[in-house]
Amino acid sequence: HMDIPLARAWIRTVAAAMEEHQEQLTQLDSAIGDADHGVNMHRGFSTVIAALDGLESTNVGDVLVKTGTILISSVGGASGPLYGTFFRAAGRQLTTPTTDAEHLLAALEAGLAGLQKLGGAVPGDKTMVDAIAPALAAFAAEVRTGGSVDLTAAAVEAAAAARRGMLATIPLQARKGRASYLGARSIGHQDPGATSAALVFQALADVLQ
Ligand code: ADP
Ligand code: MG
Ligand code: MG
Repeated sequence: HMDIPLARAWIRTVAAAMEEHQEQLTQLDSAIGDADHGVNMHRGFSTVIAALDGLESTNVGDVLVKTGTILISSVGGASGPLYGTFFRAAGRQLTTPTTDAEHLLAALEAGLAGLQKLGGAVPGDKTMVDAIAPALAAFAAEVRTGGSVDLTAAAVEAAAAARRGMLATIPLQARKGRASYLGARSIGHQDPGATSAALVFQALADVLQ
């Protein structure tokens, strides 16, 4: 189960990962974008964790909705509204103090649907969707096999799939976002947003282990 302290720990772990990988994210964005993804993610999640300290949450969703709202208002780049919508749309589904793997999966799927509705990206466009979609597919494969569902195992599988999806962006040509302006020159570079998305899922696996 995920409860409110675990949801907070997830977001704090994401923030730490964005700080740790800020240079790498910026480096990746300097190759096919405008070299601000590390700064965007670090600033966004630092602002989020400061805001979460003062938040009185009564359900898991409060933590994620607040996270999304702060990301939208504090990140200048495309990634702010996209991640913000992901966390807000997911959080709106989670109206209880604890949630099981099945409900968390459904919420994250709603988050991805919101992100895709906003950004218009589909898998293969070389965006964060290329890490998030396979992560949720792997999560779903664990949850929907039936029997007793292990949230930790599902999160570990999701993190591994996100990482594979991140690496699989390298040979792709970008069709959304700034990198798409480069056309074929975007080929051969790992997508920054897919990289940060893999960190989000690794953080979930880490806090559950
Ligand atoms: P900006 O491009 O505005 O500087 P960031 O550098 O913070 O914003 O984020 C860039 C990342 O955002 C890209 O690597 C990509 O993964 C993601 N991205 C950009 N546009 C879209 C979109 N339309 N749908 C999904 N993800 C997108
Ligand atoms: Mg950028
Ligand atoms: Mg930018």
